[in-house]
Amino acid sequence: MSQRQLFVTTALPYANGNFHIGHIMEYIQADIWVRYQRMQGHQVDFVGADDTHGAPIMIAAEKAGITPQQFVANIAAGRKPYLDGFHIAFDNWHSTDAPENHELARQIYRDLRDIPASQGGSLIERRTIEQFFDPEKNMFLPDRFIKGECPKCHAQDQYGDNCEVCGAVYAPTDLINPFSALSGAKPELKSSEHFFFKLSDPRCVAFLQNWTQDGKLQPEVANKVKEWFSVRSNPDGTTSEGLGDWDISRDAPYFGIEIPDTAIDGAPAKYFYVWLDAPVGYLASLKNLLDQRGVNYEAYMANPNLEQVHFIGKDIVTFHTLFWPAMLHFSGRKTPDQVNVHGFLTVNNGEKMSKSRGTGLDPLKYLSLGMNPEWLRYYLATKLSARNEDIDFNAEDFMARVNSDLIGKFVNIASRAAGFLTKRFDGKLTPTFDAQGAALLSEIHAAKDSIAHAYDAREYGKAAREIMLLADKVNSYVDQHKPWDLAKDSANNLALHQVCSVLINAFAALSRYLAPILPSLAQAVEAFVGTRMNDWTHTGPVTQIHPYQHLMQRVTPEQLDALFEPPVITEDKSVPGGGSSTAPTLGTDVSSLPPEGAGLALGRPGGESIAPTISIDDFAKIDLRIAQIVNCEAVEGSVKLLRLTLDVGEGKTRNVFSGIASMYKPEDLVGKLTVMVANLAPRKMKFGVSEGMVLAASHADEKAEPGIYVLQPWPGAKPGMRIH
Ligand SMILES: [Zn+2]
Repeated sequence: MSQRQLFVTTALPYANGNFHIGHIMEYIQADIWVRYQRMQGHQVDFVGADDTHGAPIMIAAEKAGITPQQFVANIAAGRKPYLDGFHIAFDNWHSTDAPENHELARQIYRDLRDIPASQGGSLIERRTIEQFFDPEKNMFLPDRFIKGECPKCHAQDQYGDNCEVCGAVYAPTDLINPFSALSGAKPELKSSEHFFFKLSDPRCVAFLQNWTQDGKLQPEVANKVKEWFSVRSNPDGTTSEGLGDWDISRDAPYFGIEIPDTAIDGAPAKYFYVWLDAPVGYLASLKNLLDQRGVNYEAYMANPNLEQVHFIGKDIVTFHTLFWPAMLHFSGRKTPDQVNVHGFLTVNNGEKMSKSRGTGLDPLKYLSLGMNPEWLRYYLATKLSARNEDIDFNAEDFMARVNSDLIGKFVNIASRAAGFLTKRFDGKLTPTFDAQGAALLSEIHAAKDSIAHAYDAREYGKAAREIMLLADKVNSYVDQHKPWDLAKDSANNLALHQVCSVLINAFAALSRYLAPILPSLAQAVEAFVGTRMNDWTHTGPVTQIHPYQHLMQRVTPEQLDALFEPPVITEDKSVPGGGSSTAPTLGTDVSSLPPEGAGLALGRPGGESIAPTISIDDFAKIDLRIAQIVNCEAVEGSVKLLRLTLDVGEGKTRNVFSGIASMYKPEDLVGKLTVMVANLAPRKMKFGVSEGMVLAASHADEKAEPGIYVLQPWPGAKPGMRIH
């Protein structure tokens, strides 16, 4: 494969606040792709920057009593803990207020303005428009800073662009009794000269109709974009083109980049609308990186093999599929090769975003609780595909995938073999294997191309599934060869040595496949097995291991509980709330606690009150028996249930369904003893008849404290014994 030259970006976050989990998801998605490409030996420059301009930041800075420059510098200073914390390996993090961006944005504008007549003429047009002006603040008002009565439903205090009560969309001039949200003053209509990028020009339309439909976009995104080109019928019987011209200017005062040649005759200069210079920030960050390396930016961009790849969210598709490629193309610049759109991330089906549950998943709180960033990287990877679709972070699902897949299936492979190799064979591995082991390793190595293809296509969920299927095969090899049994008799030394050597070689190969998702774990594995992890094509065998160090802890329900614990509500303002990871302070004012906390506050064990008193006769009606789990299997079509075959000493077995699949692998339960209700009326379920119930413990609020724990008797109990 020839070496690719890749320039990769993520959307520039607006510098008016800290990162939220949605940002982190996008960065992880891009970072996995970048790391995979680097493992293939491709050259990647991966950059980001803060999007710093616009009225909201100008106004927020004014409120904070600092300059906009100071304001965005404060935000920028807080970025590093997030990026380092989640192993996001940007090569450069820059700012749209940096000199490179001022220069590039102005040059792109000049190039669009000065297109010679022979090539169709300028794509910039001046027009005078009427806009609301705040006479007290002495500035034109952005739509979001004008409020008034909805012209449709007459709700009060609605924004200038749409009504949050009835959903109507309108122009600020349609509002009844409008007022400035900044000063409260009644705004005046004032005319002003604005600059438009002529997106409706036939040249732009023709270019974009082709550009958006030739494979650079995901099919579902390309289809959506197609609708924007269609000719629409207006209510008055006229028709208009789908693409309208784009107002790229704003009047002073504005925190942004001055438009060249607009400060004429003593008039204040116009500024670029923030969305004009924001995507230019991709190029500015790259240029800044190249300058640091002493590489010429123009020469770099002129490379015909350079691929420009953007990762963005679905809310900013218009800017990246219409304005941005048109700006680049008609200013004589390279256009993007891929615009990869992802959906939104919800947390616990959005419920955690509600006030009673705190504020969703706070990335810094996650890290401060000592939660492994690679758990999140792995979990998000299993959910991500190439499609533009929303994904949900679900706490129970997260725990199951981390504990039973990542650790139970994968990490445990190493711990099962390492001890024997170190203690019995001085850490040395055999160069040859048993036939079955050799076949297993060939199968793992043969999956390399298919997994590679999934990564390149951003089908991370598919890659993870394929890797876990291979891990399953390694585990059945372990179960079949039972190294712990082989170790009992020194006559089996060679077999034990070979089996453990197969396991470590399999583990090394799977670790390499997971390295784009788990870079830190891969590094630890490299130190452990001594073969290179950052090279996709590496196939050399492991010959010697170093003593095994624990590679990854399991996630605990307590950690997830703490992560989603709402901020402490307390009368004492000096007690830190928001990011605190400590248990809620239970004051006397129980009513101020969220409902989920109230159970704890009232001393209800396990989240629910003790049931009303019963007599011993009532209890005697329930026939509880020791049961042996003679078989256990997954239930096709159900993520929750396991099918248990139970022996309670009746000379026949019983079929019981139990909602414990999130916690246990079927093979882990086979052979174990538990407790069942033996005289419960049989219940017909979707998947068959359940002839009893297995006892298991859980918290009343399974969302607050996920986890269900099957009861197991002390040694000595036998199947069929009654519990009194
Ligand atoms: Zn309304």
